[in-house]
Order: sequence, then structure tokens, then C-alpha cells
Amino acid sequence: MAKAKVVFVMGATGTGKSRLAIDLALRFGGEVVNSDKMQIYDGLHVITNKVTDEERQGVPHHLLGGFPPDADFTAGDFRDEATRAVESITLRCRLPVIAGGSNSFIEELVEGADRQFLRRFECCFLWVDVHPPVLHRFLGERVDRMVASGLVDEVRALFDPDVVADYSRGARRAIGVLEMDRFLRAEAENAEESVKAALMEAAIDEIKAKTCELTCCQLQKINRLCGSFGRRVRKVDATDVLVKGRAAADAAWEELVVGPSVDFVADFLQR
Ligand code: ATP
Repeated sequence: MAKAKVVFVMGATGTGKSRLAIDLALRFGGEVVNSDKMQIYDGLHVITNKVTDEERQGVPHHLLGGFPPDADFTAGDFRDEATRAVESITLRCRLPVIAGGSNSFIEELVEGADRQFLRRFECCFLWVDVHPPVLHRFLGERVDRMVASGLVDEVRALFDPDVVADYSRGARRAIGVLEMDRFLRAEAENAEESVKAALMEAAIDEIKAKTCELTCCQLQKINRLCGSFGRRVRKVDATDVLVKGRAAADAAWEELVVGPSVDFVADFLQR
């Protein structure tokens, strides 16, 4: 019997993986399985840039939230939960589209547990790439938008000035939580406005720098992983989508990212 097929959408943070996964799911009758290790947890919508209900356009999403922020969701947990989600999606004759930037999760799913997943499912991999300087500029602006959309309130909800939080576990590992700690402590101690303003500015700068560092680590891991996936990988370049102004960006997205990705997946599904 032919193996069921699974599409992976990989790429650094901010490249448009979630959007592409939804576009592909809409075209091929798919459902998205999140593979971003921070979006697995409930809450932190702004800071982890979770897709909104409107952006989902009715496409079912799996493992997007559903786990408490204090739980420590491991790569092994992801392998088990994602395998279950893929089984249920394929049983319903729909196409699983696994999308997210956590490459240790993808590596564990695809190459862990004796490569069981590759034995059971035929996989193809799309890699959405953006030229790093362009991506870093975009991410800096995105952090500013996150602050305007409630990033600080979201972190404040996780913050307790009387407790020394463990920033190495669960959702508190998300970039933005530890970085806001000094500001939130100053706020709890009723520090002067100028002190708080300086701490806030430093926190935002740090979040921007850490997010850019994250993309560099992600790229190294994707390069290594995709090296071992061989011809099953198709790279699409979304740089021009971020360079173009708002109106032209949608057309560039369709032409440069969606078009080649749809061709690649259609070919993969026909094989
Ligand atoms: P590692 O083994 O280094 O954890 P990974 O591939 O499993 O790598 P990444 O997705 O690269 O995981 O995440 C590394 C770290 O980056 C996370 O522990 C977290 O601090 C931060 N991070 C990742 N994704 C997000 C996100 N969506 N929002 C905020 N922070 C994130």
C-alpha cells in the first residue's frame, strides 16, 4: 500500500511559514500541525506570533496551544503528539502540513525513534528563505508592532514579583519573557518613570537582538537538516515579498512563494 504523504514547511522565524502552510492547506485540502515549540503552549499569542482565527481562514490547526505554560513540552512529546495528529489527518484523507521553526522538533519527528516516521509516511520539505539583512530589518519592525499589540501585558500576566521564575522551562523560554523581567520588577517596585522607560528600551533592543540571533541558529540547523533530506527539499525565496511595499507584497507572495510551492507539492502528491 502507498504511504500517506506529509508536507513540511520550514524556515527561520518571520519568513512566512504559517501563511504558506495555510495557503497550501486551502489548495490541497490540508490541516496544519504546528512545530513551533513556543506556540505549543496556551497564551503568548503576540510574543510567539501565533496565527489569528482570521488568518487561519477555517483551516484546522493542531498543537497550536493546548498545553499549559508551565508544562515542559519536549521534542519526544512533539514526536508522539505530531505523529498522532498526522495519523488522524491522513485517516480523514486530508493532507498534513507541518509548519514551524523548531528544527529540533522536526529532527526528532523525522529522524528520531529509529526513523519510524519516514518509514510510515512519504515526506517533502519546503524551505522558505529570506536574505538575512532583509529578514532582520523586518523582525525589528515586527517587535515594535508586537509591543504596540500588547507584548508587555502578555508577559506581565506570567510575571509574579514575589517569585524567582524559572526562565528555562515551558513558555517562559519564549524570547521576550526573560527580557522583560527587569522592567516588570522596576514597575512592581514603583520605580521612577525615567528608570522604567530606560529598562523598557533596553528590553526591546534585547528582544530584537535575540530574535535575529535565533534566525541565525535556525538557518544553520535547517541547512544541516535539509542536507540530509536531499531531493525531497524545495527552497523558495521570499526576500522580495519583504522588500516590496504592502500592495505589491501580496502579488510577490503569490508569484515567488505560493506558485513554486504549489507546483512542488502537486508534483509530490502525483508521484
Ligand atoms: P533549541 O534546541 O536551541 O531549543 P530548536 O530548534 O528546538 O532549538 P527553536 O525554535 O530554534 O528551537 O527555539 C530556540 C529558542 O528560541 C526557544 O527556546 C525560545 O527561547 C526561542 N523561540 C523559538 N520560537 C519562538 C517563538 N515563536 N517566540 C518566541 N521565542 C521563540
